[in-house]
This record gives sequence, C-alpha cells and structure tokens, in this order.
Amino acid sequence: MSIKRYSYTDVKCPREVVLLQSTGCSWGHCTFCDYQNDKSMSAAAAAKLNRQILRLVTGKSGVLQIIDSASFSELPMETLLDVLAVCKEKNIHKVILEQHWSYRSGFWVLSDLFESRGVECLFLGGIESFNPQIRGGLFNKGMGRDGPEEIRRYFQWVNLLCGVKGQSLEGVLEDIHIGLELFERVILNIFITNSSSAQRDEELIAALYAHPEFPLLKANSKIEILEYGNPLSDGTLGGIGYGEEETIK
Ligand code: SF4
Repeated sequence: MSIKRYSYTDVKCPREVVLLQSTGCSWGHCTFCDYQNDKSMSAAAAAKLNRQILRLVTGKSGVLQIIDSASFSELPMETLLDVLAVCKEKNIHKVILEQHWSYRSGFWVLSDLFESRGVECLFLGGIESFNPQIRGGLFNKGMGRDGPEEIRRYFQWVNLLCGVKGQSLEGVLEDIHIGLELFERVILNIFITNSSSAQRDEELIAALYAHPEFPLLKANSKIEILEYGNPLSDGTLGGIGYGEEETIK
C-alpha cells in the first residue's frame, strides 16, 4: 500500500511529521495495531526509504515528530545518523520520538545525544489508557501496571486511544483528564477500523463528540483529537499514514 510519509501540521502545535520504516516492532502484540505491518525485512532498504523521506523535511517550524512502524529505537542506525544530520541542516530545535515503554531505561542516551547538538528531545508514548485493565487486558500494550506518575518520568507526550469496543466514555474522559494534568501534550487517537481484531465502537465515539466537554477539549491547545476524515476532529496530522497525496512509496 502506498501511504503518505511526510506531512506538516499547524493545528495546535505546528510541526513536521515523518512516518519512517523500521525492521519491525519487537513487542508487536497490541490488539488494535496493524501499522506494525509497515516494516521492511531489510535494514538497508528501510534506511534508504527513510533517507528519502527525511529529505522532505524543511525545518519550517523547527519541530520534527518522528513516527514509524515500531519505536524510534528500532529504526536502523543509519537512520538515526540521518535524523541527526537533518536536524543540523534544517535547524530543527525539537524532536518528538515515539517509543514503546520497554525502551525507557535508554531514553537518556538519546536525550543526551540530541541535546549535545542543541536539539530538545521529547518522548511520545503509546499509552492508550492509564487504566491497567484496559491497557493490558483490552489493548495488550505490554506495559505492566505502572501508573501515570511513573509513566510521566519518561514520557512528555502521550497517545491515548478512544473508540474500541470494551472502552467506556467515563474511562476515556478519565484518561484525558489525567493526561492533561500530568503531560505536556495529549494525542487522542479515535480508532479507525483496520485489519486487527479490534472493533470500532461507533456509539462511544459519537458520545465523545456530543459530550458537553468536547468543545472545551477542541479549544484546548494541549490536546489533539485525531480521526481521519471527521471534520469534528483536529485532523490526522496532515493525513500522514493514509493513502492520499502520496509523495513516496
Ligand atoms: S508497540 Fe506500537 S507498533 Fe508495536 S504493536 Fe504496539 S502499537 Fe503496534
């Protein structure tokens, strides 16, 4: 499938976003995830593609978010060097790197590396929910039962997930409140049906959009609500990860 791998968004937090390719997610068991399938069997091929994508970065906002079919730590080493080079060439002063919880003990190495080059390094965690029963039982995130304060020690930004059958509106709102209280930024992803076994809960999603608190969330610059194709949401980070406006296969 051809997907869009570079975008720029100026919704709430202007930044460039790149969707790079890894050789695979070492966890790989999250029940809702099929984007881990976007991987390469060859580190050399992934690095070559990633270099093409990184060439599209302009430095327009000075902020670069990097996502991939796994964790940032699972990208080829060559790609890490290319990211450092593009930060220097394009005057990027802040990077946001998505990581699985299992890599947290090594975050300081990446922070030191980027910060030694004058680039602030933030980590984005796919937490999905702060409720260990939902996170572990429904989503199988492989994070154990650590609470939000412990998670905050490592991540500044969090991804939360809404719209999977088995979730409740109260639980989703509680997750959002915790996220807004403890983290710099919350990305609330509305689940879109994909090839995984997870089922989209239309009623739950409609209830979120109709909730009296929703306009406040939309107006809150700390939270981005992302749903592909729904004008009620804050968009989809410029459509990255979807098929249209393709620039690189
Ligand atoms: S850690 Fe991320 S890439 Fe890996 S299976 Fe879970 S959601 Fe997918």
